[in-house]
Amino acid sequence: MTDQNNSFDAIIIGAGFSGLYQLHTLRDQLKLSTLTVESGSDLGGTWFWNRYPGARCDSESHSYCYMFSEEIYKKWEWSERYPGPEEIRSYLNFVADELNLRRDIKFNTLVTKARFIESDNKWELTTEGGETYRATYLITGIGCISSANIPSIPGLQDFQGKWYHTGNWPHEEVSFENKRVGQIGTGSTGIQAAPEIAKTAGHLHVFQRTPNYSVPARNAPLSDAFKREFHDDYEEIKKAVRSTPNGHPFRISETKVFEHNKHEREKVYEDAWSKGGLQFRATYQDLTTSKAANDTAANFLKEKIKSIVHDKTTAHSLANIDYPYAGKRPPIDTNYFETFNRDNVSLVDLKQESIIKITEDGIQTSARHIPLDIIVFATGFDAITGKFMEMDIQGRNELKLSEAWKEGPKTYLGLQTPGFPNLFSITGPGSPSVLCNMPVPIEQHVEWITDCIAHMRKNDIDTCEASEEAADEWVAHVNEAANATLLVTVPHSWYLGANVEGKPRVFMPYAGGMVRYRALCDDVVKHNYAGFVLSSKNDSEQTGGNNSKHNFDITKQITTPGI
Ligand code: NAP
Repeated sequence: MTDQNNSFDAIIIGAGFSGLYQLHTLRDQLKLSTLTVESGSDLGGTWFWNRYPGARCDSESHSYCYMFSEEIYKKWEWSERYPGPEEIRSYLNFVADELNLRRDIKFNTLVTKARFIESDNKWELTTEGGETYRATYLITGIGCISSANIPSIPGLQDFQGKWYHTGNWPHEEVSFENKRVGQIGTGSTGIQAAPEIAKTAGHLHVFQRTPNYSVPARNAPLSDAFKREFHDDYEEIKKAVRSTPNGHPFRISETKVFEHNKHEREKVYEDAWSKGGLQFRATYQDLTTSKAANDTAANFLKEKIKSIVHDKTTAHSLANIDYPYAGKRPPIDTNYFETFNRDNVSLVDLKQESIIKITEDGIQTSARHIPLDIIVFATGFDAITGKFMEMDIQGRNELKLSEAWKEGPKTYLGLQTPGFPNLFSITGPGSPSVLCNMPVPIEQHVEWITDCIAHMRKNDIDTCEASEEAADEWVAHVNEAANATLLVTVPHSWYLGANVEGKPRVFMPYAGGMVRYRALCDDVVKHNYAGFVLSSKNDSEQTGGNNSKHNFDITKQITTPGI
């Protein structure tokens, strides 16, 4: 609903999976005047920006979608095991049409500032175009991997060819035909992009700083029988994604690695390799918690790389991995290692030669000059907090979010930060977010925020704000959960913010698993919003919440991490 004074009950930033569903719940269920602002020219969020060659979701299509409406779920038909950006955008457009969402989304609107105005408990937003908006509730649905990280390699401004970051890919087709292409980065994105770029490039040089494990995705068109099945099994699939630690429709085995002998293990790994996909990390219960257990999977995958790649030196560089499998987000691929058997592809191992600078016609390494026409930065993101920091967000007492998060993001349940009343984040830092199949935590957050706002309105509560004490306790618990896994042992991981110069080294997502997280959030509600301060301006007393006495001990509720 639009308003002449640009004043709304709620404003949502972002029109991806999060923002679309949040718009629906606040506008259609709570009947709030609601506006969504989106910096892109269309909806889609991460899938609006990530259009690089080979881009594809690593979650399986029948689970990478909304589950809140059986009707919507059953009306849509996916075509492949893993959906690409175009199909996901079509799906989100279909949902937006079904729910008539577009009329309340303002595109090409980049929020540059958000201020909490204490005198009337409103958020005031300023956009790049100089417009201002006001709202009682501000909800961010800005994604976790949306702020492109372009490394500061000297000389980029001198480069006379074309360069692109995968997370900001042009909408027009980029031709690699007969071009000398340098791709920097071999994360999930680079591993998807290289095989596609290699198909037409004159020559592709893949600059690898840290080698990566990868398991074949085994993407394929979905059979009619499967499509029918996933429609028929809606309830079961919904139950499954809500009962697994990372929101995927497959269970993590309860067997521990050394309960099987070597022969049995090889069979388990071989079967998972043939099946393909992220299920590989679900083969054993202790893969992400025991180094010795993890070594067995890591060695299996390294042997696979060596058996695929013909050139011994290249194979050695690709398999020279010194951190645990799934310690960083594990990629899945379509012919990634096979690509290095092509005559027009070479690996530049940055452990052997380092990048010195970018020149006007290529990249100078410590060993040679590599002439290039195009550079592709598959160098990742200032993840989870980057997009927040791009906005100037100021809460109570002129506290800036950048100041509040100086030593790392300090949130309660990833949902709120002390000092920033009525600012809610969908999949914010400190929530399971990127460790999950994203639509699952997104739906849970949207529904929790909607219920919280409904509770506030019903009880005449003006502001909801995380208490300092609860946030401190939660941050400690997020660390505790991470420290129980091997994920904290990978020094260069973006989970830790280690890929961005100057960023605090703090493990940002919650590794305790989505099931436990959901139960904790529900428990907080049951205990009258324990840890949140709920107040009314007509009442100097706190009107709700359970700030001062936690009758609910978050830290005691974790036993094993659930990633
Ligand atoms: P990423 O995992 O952070 O990988 C970035 C790559 O760039 C790494 O290989 C990194 O090397 C390299 N790099 C960065 N700066 C460099 C420099 N100065 N010199 C040389 N190399 C440099 O980023 P991403 O691949 O874009 O993936 C980010 C996340 O997005 C994924 O983990 C995943 O969660 C998500 N994603 C999902 C999908 C999907 O669902 N299909 C697809 C793509 C991405 P180091 O390792 O040495 O830092």
